[in-house]
Amino acid sequence: MSATLGALLHRLEPTWSIEVFERLPRVGQESSDPWNNAGTGHAALCELNYMPEGPDGSLSPAKAIDINEQFQLSRQLWASFVEDGTLPDPKGFISPTPHMTFVWGEENVDYLRRRWELLKDEPLFAGMEYSEDPEVIRGWAPTLIPGRKKSQRIAATRSTDGTDVDFGALTRMLLGSLVRDGAGVHTNTSVIGLKRQSDGLWRLKLRHEVGQNRTEVTARFVFVGGGGGALKLLQKSGIPEAKGFAGFPITGAFLRTDNPELVARHNAKVYGKASVGAPPMSVPHLDTRVVDGEASVLFGPYAGFSPKYLKSGTYLDMFETIKGHNLYPMIRAGLANLDLVGYLMGEVFASREQRLEALREFMPNAKDEDWRLITAGQRVQVMKKDPEKGGVLQFGTEVVTGADGTIAGLLGASPGASTAVHIMLTIFERCFPERMPEWRSTITELIPSFGTKLNADPAAARESIARTARVLRLVEPPVGELHAAGATRATA
Ligand SMILES: Cc1cc2nc3c(=O)[nH]c(=O)nc-3n(C[C@H](O)[C@H](O)[C@H](O)COP(=O)(O)OP(=O)(O)OC[C@H]3O[C@@H](n4cnc5c(N)ncnc54)[C@H](O)[C@@H]3O)c2cc1C
Repeated sequence: MSATLGALLHRLEPTWSIEVFERLPRVGQESSDPWNNAGTGHAALCELNYMPEGPDGSLSPAKAIDINEQFQLSRQLWASFVEDGTLPDPKGFISPTPHMTFVWGEENVDYLRRRWELLKDEPLFAGMEYSEDPEVIRGWAPTLIPGRKKSQRIAATRSTDGTDVDFGALTRMLLGSLVRDGAGVHTNTSVIGLKRQSDGLWRLKLRHEVGQNRTEVTARFVFVGGGGGALKLLQKSGIPEAKGFAGFPITGAFLRTDNPELVARHNAKVYGKASVGAPPMSVPHLDTRVVDGEASVLFGPYAGFSPKYLKSGTYLDMFETIKGHNLYPMIRAGLANLDLVGYLMGEVFASREQRLEALREFMPNAKDEDWRLITAGQRVQVMKKDPEKGGVLQFGTEVVTGADGTIAGLLGASPGASTAVHIMLTIFERCFPERMPEWRSTITELIPSFGTKLNADPAAARESIARTARVLRLVEPPVGELHAAGATRATA
């Protein structure tokens, strides 16, 4: 998140000085590390939680379209950064990976078909395929079918516009380019306090983890991009807008296989349907991951509970953020989500066999010896005041900004890294409204669909998806063009 903000801000105001402080020895090692998240470029092509059924069984594509629009902004910025050399070879952070949804049982098949019927004619979802035929589904994802009861009704959708993103690599590339342009990235440096001075500047207290000495810096604008660490810092800032917020940490784990034979037979992100009481981000999925050029397959996530707000945090994290102003919203949100607590308990105490059973619902012939459990990142879900209910738990992200626009921070997890560009544009609009008229043309150069709705313009949607796919090397150029490029290089 901070890397995206820094890269954009540098382009808009090249003379501003930017300093990034990271408590760990390297950047991108918490939630954005590729093994700490699923790397799905969330575009709602396969995630059912962006299109839930209403109580009367009705379906609306609005939320799915909105998430897809947001992801297109990310694709456009990344493509522009590849074209102008800010980002090196896109293969280092993004890979084409079909996005599939796979369900079983009458009700789920009916739901998936109705979802597909609504989405297939939407420009951003063009080309989405649907099938109930096991042979077709086997062609899309060979491991889903062998070992499955023939009598079981199944259905799947597939979109070949899907992606797998290594957000850790992307973070390092973006910050690397900032450093080349003169910004400071200070690792092993924790922000331990921030306070508004009487002259309007923010004073940040820093602890250098190597040597343990302390220093201070001042800044005109602060982005609290600490992931799970953001709530604590926003509370320290003392801004009234941070009052009433609390965090509910949920741990994650995945089963991972690197067995080359299995990996070669699965090239897709296959999302299923969440079980009752499960939070939206616990939708099970069987996922191709590409990290450092090597493919693996993940299954999960399995949720759990730990009071840590960061994977590298402490067991005091959650307790340190409980304040008089957020205690009541926390209690109300907790009482309203007892089914989630029950679900998490079940997940915490799940045996390896139960975890494998969940995997076998997707891949019936999965063998124990191929899979190992890895710990993913912490998600800190937002709990906040609610005028009617007292307190609510929400699964999205929440941008918190100070009234005068000199500080902003980000809480929450989903849809996460995929929508970082949209989130940062929201922050610009809230914190720099007076500069937006001047910035608009540069933003539109980098992100052509900024301020428009791609889905409302089929030609623009097609053009954007095709252009970003070409620049981000999500489609290989036709052989003729490859030869031409080779010939040009040889001549040069
Ligand atoms: C299990 C799981 C699966 C996910 N799957 C997906 C997915 O498929 N697709 C997707 O788009 N998103 C996914 N997400 C969400 C995504 O990972 C996050 O939204 C995103 O990585 C958050 O980026 P960030 O920069 O806010 O936080 P982080 O990447 O956590 O970075 C915050 C940084 O701040 C540092 N920090 C914290 N406190 C301090 C301090 N006081 N001083 C200095 N430094 C500090 C931390 O060390 C860390 O490096 C997933 C998350 C999880 C946990």
